[in-house]
This record gives sequence, structure tokens and C-alpha cells, in this order.
Amino acid sequence: MPEVRLVDLRKEYPGVIAVKDISITFATATVTCLLGPSGCGKTTMMRIIAGLENPTTGDVFFDDDRMTDLPARKRKIGMVFQYPVVYRNISVYRNIELPLLGEKLSGSERKRRIQQVIDILGLEDSVEKEISQLDGGTRQKVAIARTVARQPAVILFDEPITSVDAEAKVQLKRSLKELTRQLQQTIIYVTHDQTEAMTLADQIALMKDGEIVQLDEPRNLYNQPNDVFGGWFLGNPGMNFFDHQVEALEGGAGLRSPLFPHPLKISGLNGQNRITLGIRPEHVRLARKTSKFAVSGKVRRKIIGVGGHYLLSIELDDKIIKIKVKPTLGRQIKNEVWIECPLEWITLFGPDGHRLNATLTM
Ligand code: ATP
Repeated sequence: MPEVRLVDLRKEYPGVIAVKDISITFATATVTCLLGPSGCGKTTMMRIIAGLENPTTGDVFFDDDRMTDLPARKRKIGMVFQYPVVYRNISVYRNIELPLLGEKLSGSERKRRIQQVIDILGLEDSVEKEISQLDGGTRQKVAIARTVARQPAVILFDEPITSVDAEAKVQLKRSLKELTRQLQQTIIYVTHDQTEAMTLADQIALMKDGEIVQLDEPRNLYNQPNDVFGGWFLGNPGMNFFDHQVEALEGGAGLRSPLFPHPLKISGLNGQNRITLGIRPEHVRLARKTSKFAVSGKVRRKIIGVGGHYLLSIELDDKIIKIKVKPTLGRQIKNEVWIECPLEWITLFGPDGHRLNATLTM
């Protein structure tokens, strides 16, 4: 399987630059998710890789082969779309088999490949059924099976599980994970759903306004966003942000924050006089009143979130911080609460929104 390389790729439409000079390598046998809000350029980038759209400038390479001017049908690409592309009145088996008949394969190799995708995707009970007898999730599995069995050089998924119901989504995600683990193909997967990206991706390219904000492993992207956008976009809800003026305190630069009972020192700044502290709701802890990091706040809102966790909105001075707590603790909390923000979970951003390599100490 080749690696896919985009070099200075740009796509302009009248009045909008959909892709802004992006260079990125999608490594062999990895799953890369293009993640970002609507309109950030994910689909345009994928369509250019597929050959369905020409870039304004820049190039697409599969290994060292320049693909930029090659028509889609010559690129050995497999695509899975939001709505399954399948034939309604023939069986699942035949649906998977049909695209393989055009390949130069022996009968036994064809059967082996069909059986392999049937096994991985759990389609055994449906092989003899017609597509019209299947639910949406299973139809999409068949569409995936048809594409994957051809063993194309690169597989592109464009929001493949967006349109299936919640239960089928969970199952499809599991099947896709298994599929990508076993087949080791080069996969580029477009989604605006962060949980999907976090579950499936080896690496995530987080996109905004036609640019890649960060290309990273899911955990790094979540725990160490390079930009306030990553802190905000990932998480449910995203990071809490607190803007602060940097002050000259005794012993050097520092700041006063409602998150802490005492002023903090900052080292490693590069002339910034304002910084933003970011912390995820699940990293804020409930504390004892006697803890030296604890501050007290008023509970303004308490709602039950996914998995029974409580999401609390707490007022500290005139600011609101959102925190996530376990069900048992969440139930006990009344009007006032003591919390602490572990320094190791605080990310610092500069006025331009980029992460700083500065350090906070008590
Ligand atoms: P979505 O998740 O909504 O599909 P996306 O991240 O995939 O969004 P694109 O569809 O790539 O984003 O669109 C990027 C930008 O380019 C948007 O501003 C969109 O309106 C614009 N755009 C996309 N295709 C065209 C087109 N054929 N003509 C004009 N503008 C376009």
C-alpha cells in the first residue's frame, strides 16, 4: 500500500479558499481522520486525493508517483460514502463479488477475499439476503465490504457512519476498527465526529478554515492541543479557558487567577503579557477545603451527562468553570463546592491562540 503525500495543495472556489496550501503525508497502513467543523475543507481535500476534483495548485503523490493529473479511475482508490452504494435486488454475497469480477483474480482468491470481509464485518448471517431486506447499518457494511475486498491502494471514507442510527453506529465503529487493524491499508477517513475520530484514527488531522491545525495521535491532540481551537473543538464540552494579564510579582512574572487561591509564577514566557489557561472539565477535581490548591465556587447548574457523569457549571468570582464529576459525587453536591486544578493538566496559550512552552508554579 502506498503512502499518500499532498504537497502545497490549494483549492480555490469563487470567493472561498477551501484548502490553503496543505502539505501532509498519510503513512502506509495507517488510518488518518480528517476532523473538523462543517466547511473546513475536509471533503474538498478528499475529493482531490480521489481525483474527483483538481487542485488549483499543488500536487498529490502516491509514494513517488505524481497523481495530480491522473483521472479518478486510474488511481486505484476505493471510496465509501455517507449513503451506501449497493445494488438493492441482489444478494449481499453477489454485491461483494461483482466489483471483483473485473479484477484479474483466480476463483479461489476471489472467494477468499469475499469470505475475509464477511468474517471481519460480521456479515455471515446476511450473505444470502437481498439488500432491500437489510437495515441501514448492515447496508453500509456491505458497501464497505465491496470496497475493501477489491484491495485498492488507498481507501477513502467520507462520513460513512453519519447516516446510520445510534446502535448501528457503535457496531459499525467496532467493525471498522477491526477491519483497519487486520487489513493494514492506507485509509483516509473524513468525519466531523470527534468520538469516531478518537476511536478509529492512528492519527488525526484537525482542520479549520482550510488548514491543518494539528496532526497528531488522538491522545496527544486531546491532552496537548497546539491551539485553543483543539482545546475547544475536542471534548464534550471542550476546555475551559481563562484569560489573564501577566503581572510582575515578587520573584518574577506571574498571574492571579480565580482557579487558584494564591498568585502563580510563570517561567518560559517569550514577551507575552497576556496568556490563556486551558483545562478540561474532567481534569478539574473536587477538593477538600483544607487543600492548599482549593478554591470555592457556587454551583450554578448541574446536569447529568453521558454515562451518568454530572456536568457542573461553577461560578468562581465572576467566571464560570465547567467540571465533570462521577455520578456518586455529583449527586451529593449542593450549592457550594471546593475544587482544585492540577497544574499538570493546565495548558497555556499565547494571545495568538498557540500553545506556549511556559511553566506555571505555585
Ligand atoms: P462538510 O462537513 O459540511 O462537508 P467540509 O469540511 O467537508 O464540510 P468542504 O465541503 O470541503 O468542507 O468545503 C470547504 C469550503 O469550500 C466551504 O466553504 C464550501 O462552501 C466550499 N465549497 C466546497 N465545494 C464547493 C464548490 N463546488 N463550489 C464552491 N464552493 C465550494
